[in-house]
Amino acid sequence: MHAEMLVLQFPREVVDQPIIYRLVKDFDLEFNLLRAAINPRQEGLMVMELRGHPKDFRQGLKYLRGAGVKVRRVAREVSRNEERCYQCGTCTAVCPTGALHIERPDMAVVFEAARCSACELCCPACPAHAMEVRLNRAAV
Ligand code: SF4
Ligand code: SF4
Repeated sequence: MHAEMLVLQFPREVVDQPIIYRLVKDFDLEFNLLRAAINPRQEGLMVMELRGHPKDFRQGLKYLRGAGVKVRRVAREVSRNEERCYQCGTCTAVCPTGALHIERPDMAVVFEAARCSACELCCPACPAHAMEVRLNRAAV
């Protein structure tokens, strides 16, 4: 069994096609969806863990790319620079896994590294540039 965290970008032309359905049905892959969104340009974004037999996995990625989907393997680690973070909370709105969240009652913005999928969505969202991408942990 092979598993990887992926960020998939669907161009507007294919966003309404049953691409994920075919990925499961034709390539026998399983997925755990962490985030799905459509941006104002009507492009789709999905963050998911995809798993299956290595051969099926490779063929599934080939199918995705052939269908026009941009596939990015998440192969980095994201950390928070605590000196830069000023606890504004902006990042919690984009974090698909809940790794960045607000804890009550003191409303502290917590970064829980174990829940981070390294999707990097928080990096451009942080006004203080506190979320940093570190060394690769897997081959891309
Ligand atoms: S957006 Fe940046 S500065 Fe604001 S809480 Fe998140 S990491 Fe800290
Ligand atoms: S990279 Fe940032 S947005 Fe993505 S899961 Fe980790 S903390 Fe959340």
